[in-house]
Amino acid sequence: MDFELSDEEQAFQTAVRQFGDRVLRAREREIDTTGRIPDDVLGGMAHLGLLAMPVSTEYGGMGASASLTELAAEEIGRGDFSMATAVFFLLEAGWGYVLDRHGTETAKAEILPPVCAGKAFLGIASTEPTGGSDLAHMRTQSRRDAGEFVVRGEKAFVSGVEEAKRLGGGHLTLTRATNGFNFLYVPTRSDRLSTQKFDNMGRMGISTGGLTYDDVRVPERFLIGSEGRGFDYAMEGFSVARTFVSAACVGAAERALEIGTAYLQQREVFGARLGKFEGPQFELVDLYTQVEAVKWQCRRAAWLLDRYTLRGDASHRSEVDKAVASVKLAAPQIAFECVKRVMMWHGAAGYTKEVGLELGLRGIMSYLVGAEGGLNIMRIILGRELLGRDFVPYR
Ligand SMILES: Cc1cc2nc3c(=O)[nH]c(=O)nc-3n(C[C@H](O)[C@H](O)[C@H](O)COP(=O)(O)OP(=O)(O)OC[C@H]3O[C@@H](n4cnc5c(N)ncnc54)[C@H](O)[C@@H]3O)c2cc1C
Repeated sequence: MDFELSDEEQAFQTAVRQFGDRVLRAREREIDTTGRIPDDVLGGMAHLGLLAMPVSTEYGGMGASASLTELAAEEIGRGDFSMATAVFFLLEAGWGYVLDRHGTETAKAEILPPVCAGKAFLGIASTEPTGGSDLAHMRTQSRRDAGEFVVRGEKAFVSGVEEAKRLGGGHLTLTRATNGFNFLYVPTRSDRLSTQKFDNMGRMGISTGGLTYDDVRVPERFLIGSEGRGFDYAMEGFSVARTFVSAACVGAAERALEIGTAYLQQREVFGARLGKFEGPQFELVDLYTQVEAVKWQCRRAAWLLDRYTLRGDASHRSEVDKAVASVKLAAPQIAFECVKRVMMWHGAAGYTKEVGLELGLRGIMSYLVGAEGGLNIMRIILGRELLGRDFVPYR
């Protein structure tokens, strides 16, 4: 067991942290108020190889391991506290990986190079207006017709709809088929595809929207993997993306504790510095301990993905599912708690935009309510793995 990062990993982590400190921190408020990650920031990320990192070098990616991508996600979550950049990053990493692994050669050559260059967006469309947790009962359908797929239905709360319209790109879209599920790449600029923008409370730099498919025709080359097996590819992508979500939450939690530690060291109350009082001091210690635990849990989840999932080895599926679900359950909660506590140490100042903690609070909340799967869905996965499938009252 070796917890030390290699020289290469350390150098990469330092480079991404510098990008986070110099670029993302400086621009996070702008990202939040303009509702957009500026093109030069995306260009800077592409220059560092951060967009769709796990994609093969052949298609413009870094061919990065899940472990290296996890390290980058921590730094991006620490850099842009609003989580918008982290969401952009992790969606492209997770779903870029799935396309790279299971897509057709022509689709990969067409879709991935602009995504890796920051000139197109790639995301996931699985949630529907009738619900996102119960995916097995989703309604959007795809049927074959004259060598193409025809998609009809509706998706909701999908990240990156506006970005895919503006930059180009689209979403890997889960659809019901006669023999299971098809996972299809659907370009957002397709004919007969209309979009809707939702007005969110946080992570404003990346949009969330609806997609309505009125018999949208999708070429056969955009089918991911085999027909009917789409659910498996989507679940594989969720395992990868959930690990990176958790890593971004770890980075945000560490950023909150950095802000809080500095404040406890300098703020004076009742003639002493705030950190001398055991109330906030012990809270800091407890939060630090929990964040450290979740960070290593997260790095282990990434290590398991590298060792099994990314090699196409399903032999440790239960171990991977438990590791990913438990970290996706823990990381957003501890990150939110860190931000909330640090806000309270700041008193009234914590409630101002100047201190900036509200950016983190609004952003991290998206991972508590549902993005990449709600907390209870993580609990259901863990319950299934710990007690057995008989204890899940539905499929
Ligand atoms: C900011 C943001 C970005 C998103 N981006 C995307 C995206 O890019 N693509 C995409 O497809 N989706 C996206 N989503 C949607 C997300 O995947 C869903 O919110 C999530 O799957 C939950 O679905 P739902 O919101 O319909 O809630 P529901 O499924 O209606 O669930 C409501 C609540 O009930 C809980 N619950 C559900 N079933 C059970 C059960 N059996 N037992 C106990 N509790 C249960 C859930 O955990 C949740 O708290 C995004 C969501 C947000 C908030």
